[in-house]
Amino acid sequence: QAKKAGRCCYRFFHPSMNRQADDHVILASALREAIADNRLTLVYQPQVNLRTGELHGVEALSRWDDPDLGMVSPGRFIPVAEETGQIRALGVWSLRVACEQMARWIANDIPVPTVSVNLSAIQFQDPDLVSQLATILHQTGVPPERLIVELTETAMIENFDQTVTTATAIRNLGIGLSMDDFGTGYSSLSNLASLPISEVKIDRSFMNGFGSTGNVRQVVTAIIRIGHTLGMTVIAEGVEEAAQCAQLRAIDCDVIQGYYFGRPMNTASLDAWIRERRAEPVPAA
Ligand code: C2E
Ligand code: MG
Ligand code: MG
Ligand code: MG
Repeated sequence: QAKKAGRCCYRFFHPSMNRQADDHVILASALREAIADNRLTLVYQPQVNLRTGELHGVEALSRWDDPDLGMVSPGRFIPVAEETGQIRALGVWSLRVACEQMARWIANDIPVPTVSVNLSAIQFQDPDLVSQLATILHQTGVPPERLIVELTETAMIENFDQTVTTATAIRNLGIGLSMDDFGTGYSSLSNLASLPISEVKIDRSFMNGFGSTGNVRQVVTAIIRIGHTLGMTVIAEGVEEAAQCAQLRAIDCDVIQGYYFGRPMNTASLDAWIRERRAEPVPAA
């Protein structure tokens, strides 16, 4: 392989110089085809109520298994989609598929209370988003309170007024609004104060060193208290161990999501997960 590249006469610069740009162009065009051919899928990760042990809801996460590129993680393709504007098509697609799936769960009496869908901050700038949401709910027959949209701040919120307007309209439809990855990146306390948020998700980076000495536990306790003061449901992300579970329960966290209870999975696996687990007790502190 190295030999081949070495002889290649049209490559006048070091490949690594342009690898990122190449990667980006390849990903962008492959992603366009994947969306057009309906080859992306959604997987669903369970969220468990810490008090009752019952299924609180699921989060829908996009997966792209490309025939040429293999598995491409959302961490790679979401930023590309945001830069190329494909995030709009992807967002509408994920809302539609998640709502169609919720309609199936309702029809089949499978107890999945809510489905959460990630939306990029860029989509909150799109004046069509609210009518698209209303149309999808209408067409799938899903009650709005069964849907939660997660505001994922992979991009800086540029027009904050528009974001507030969109968020308010979404809440007025009866849909839940979740602040994702709270405590890191661009998300801030001022967002919590000025957006009509119904749920806050504590970023999974807080689970590192959660059990050890230091301030992590105090900070998480304070986030939970703020969330509750504002009437929000508080979810901890990235919970992998029983000990974290017990500690989060002790400081009054509402819901946990993480590999400890279940990885993101397809609908068949989720059905099996629900049947097997059914309100298994949560480890106590
Ligand atoms: P997120 O919304 O914060 O989703 C949670 C991420 O943490 C998921 O990664 C999930 O697989 C991972 N995770 C869950 N539990 C654990 C755990 O216990 N340990 C560890 N180490 N990881 C855990 P994933 O699926 O790779 O998605 C990454 C991010 O990509 C998401 O973070 C979200 O911001 C974005 N994303 C995924 N699907 C979509 C989508 O359809 N639209 C948009 N706009 N963004 C999406
Ligand atoms: Mg999320
Ligand atoms: Mg996120
Ligand atoms: Mg998150």
